[in-house]
Amino acid sequence: MGYLQDRHGVMMVGLGRVPEGTCPECAVPHDPKMPHNRDSLAYQYKFYDENGRWPTWMDAMAHCDEDMKQTWIKALREKGVVVEQEPATDYINIEVSLEDTEDV
Ligand SMILES: [Zn+2]
Repeated sequence: MGYLQDRHGVMMVGLGRVPEGTCPECAVPHDPKMPHNRDSLAYQYKFYDENGRWPTWMDAMAHCDEDMKQTWIKALREKGVVVEQEPATDYINIEVSLEDTEDV
């Protein structure tokens, strides 16, 4: 039975099915004018599949009109998320100091 259950789970994901009444992109019930839920795993994996990177809030609200974007950018900023400064891709910021070698 474990095999059948696992197989069913894969089929559900593979077909991209989402619960009735939810957004086909992020599987969360929301107004089409509103951004997708960037934190939805369904949205993240679907986006990664199509774009080869994880979605940012900018991606989640790309389909929204300018007023809606500004409203969300402001709301997110109030929660400590600065949308404009989100990196488009994951990267590591490394600082290399030459001080150690200059003294040698
Ligand atoms: Zn959505």
